[in-house]
Amino acid sequence: MPIKDKPTPPKFRLFNNIFLILGVVFLAASFILPSILGPKIPGVPYSLFIHQVQEGEVARVQVSENQIQYQLKPVADEEAGQVFSTTPIFDLSLPKTLEANGVEFAATAPPKNRWVGSLLSWVIPPLIFVGIWQFFLRRSGGGGGPQGMLSIGKSKAKVYVEGEAAKITFADVAGVDEAKTELVEIVDFLKTPERYTQIGAHIPKGVLLVGPPGTGKTLLAKAVAGEAGVPFFSISGSEFVEMFVGVGSSRVRDLFEQAKKQAPCIVFIDELDAIGKSRSSSGMYGGNDEREQTLNQLLSEMDGFAPEDATVIVLAATNRPEILDPALLRPGRFDRQVLVDRPALSGREAILGIHAQTVKLGEDVDLKAIATRTPGFAGADLANLVNEAALLAARNYRPAVAQADFAEAIERVVAGLEKKSRVLNDKEKKIVAYHEVGHALVGSLMAGSGKVEKISIVSRGMAALGYTLQLPTEDRFLMDEAELRGQIATLLGGRSAEEIVFNSITTGASNDLQRATDLAEQMVTAFGMSKVLGPLAYQQGSRPMFLDQGASGRRTMSEETAQAIDREVKDIVETAHQQALEAIRHNRDLMETITMQLLETEAIEGQTLHHLLDQASPA
Ligand code: ADP
Ligand code: MG
Ligand code: ZN
Repeated sequence: MPIKDKPTPPKFRLFNNIFLILGVVFLAASFILPSILGPKIPGVPYSLFIHQVQEGEVARVQVSENQIQYQLKPVADEEAGQVFSTTPIFDLSLPKTLEANGVEFAATAPPKNRWVGSLLSWVIPPLIFVGIWQFFLRRSGGGGGPQGMLSIGKSKAKVYVEGEAAKITFADVAGVDEAKTELVEIVDFLKTPERYTQIGAHIPKGVLLVGPPGTGKTLLAKAVAGEAGVPFFSISGSEFVEMFVGVGSSRVRDLFEQAKKQAPCIVFIDELDAIGKSRSSSGMYGGNDEREQTLNQLLSEMDGFAPEDATVIVLAATNRPEILDPALLRPGRFDRQVLVDRPALSGREAILGIHAQTVKLGEDVDLKAIATRTPGFAGADLANLVNEAALLAARNYRPAVAQADFAEAIERVVAGLEKKSRVLNDKEKKIVAYHEVGHALVGSLMAGSGKVEKISIVSRGMAALGYTLQLPTEDRFLMDEAELRGQIATLLGGRSAEEIVFNSITTGASNDLQRATDLAEQMVTAFGMSKVLGPLAYQQGSRPMFLDQGASGRRTMSEETAQAIDREVKDIVETAHQQALEAIRHNRDLMETITMQLLETEAIEGQTLHHLLDQASPA
């Protein structure tokens, strides 16, 4: 249920236009009216006028700036002479001529209301320009909105306030239970900040929603605002990237100014990666100044407010967390990250349920069956699917959506998605499930690998068929040998499980093996962890080492040393492999339990997973 942008109040537009129309009418009137309403006086050439003066036929003359009116002397039985007008030429001798011929003459006082005319002639043209300018601004910006003409630097943030018709709550979001659990806490902060500040707890400032497109990040952010009943300022990162330098940063400043006035509230920055791209990675041309300024402004705004005096929680969403500037992720900024992942089976069923509420469903529709057939679909894909099915039903003049419509819609959507999601067959699914559970089991038993947070057989992108998500329990800068060995064993856990269960090996583990071997090689050649080879660096050069950087070229060395390194690497990997096999064999029953559950639900995470893995016992 997408929220509509708050429309510009119609009253305001009307007001703007009336202003403009009135102006034009005034201007026209000041030019046209006098000549319509004024008496009709015949005009004559200036030369005739002079001639008549010299002939002594003119009685009196009235000279004004751009017209001369004159009256002839009455002839014969006329009461008063005829009146004519002429347009003056630049003639300084006119008064002399008139006097010489005994004509009575005077100048007219300037018209009383002339200032209105001249004022209008100064004011109206600029107004017209402004009007045109605004028209274009509105068309191009789309969101010019109520701030009107002087708002280039103003934030275009759209505000949603509590009580609006399309109020979104957590009930509108499904399939992302872990994320919801985390966000419920945020809602609580917003509702009763005192409870936390009383004890001296710091309310988090920034929460980053991370996940693939269409999984409901934007929706979740709106739901947080809806649940907490606070104003919601939303702006998209891509809107910041504008043509004028300095606009982005002033927009950020303005956004936070507005927000602080309305605290407690939520500021939502969608597509954070558009401004938050790592400053160092922004290319060889010295980066994008505008984006950098905007990012700096954002950072300083986030540092600048103390949660005690203004409960402003900044939510942001991105599907590319890896390119974000590390400065954004520091404590006090976006220090909380919430994973919004593609939904598993039950989640998909629930999402289908939400979106099917608005369409008429036939008797035979089985949402669970549809969910089973759509692994890898994100929330947005499922919403789209329901709509496609409804369109198909309508096209065929059916009164309700039938299961067959869904079946056809799935094919269409899948074709549209191309290979974004792979649909595994049952055997592949089983292999992937055992593989991932293998990683998880070994990972939970080994030193140095983080807590296993999630296992999933919902394929993700092109590369991974399933995945095991491990979060490091703390920031690791140093690792000891046992921990590195544990990591290698964990990497081999997937393949080991396949070996034990199927007694065969598939191609699925090649990336695991690559990483395990790299790590082992680094242990030997860079970290000096091999007893045989000693504390020597066998790698080329002295560039900084990161644990996951992969091996660099080796130093020139004797054939013997090279062979010794290879032996050591192989030994480390093989030992870890045995460790992994051991761990899995020892917990074979548990592995079956978890795998069966995983096959059923497609993903296990959080508490449920921790409980299961806690039962694992070391060999
Ligand atoms: P994102 O911001 O993660 O790219 P959106 O929040 O914009 O995705 O989702 C787009 C639409 O897809 C939503 O408006 C909603 O209709 C639907 N949708 C996505 N995820 C979910 C979900 N978890 N539950 C219900 N609907 C969803
Ligand atoms: Mg979004
Ligand atoms: Zn693996």
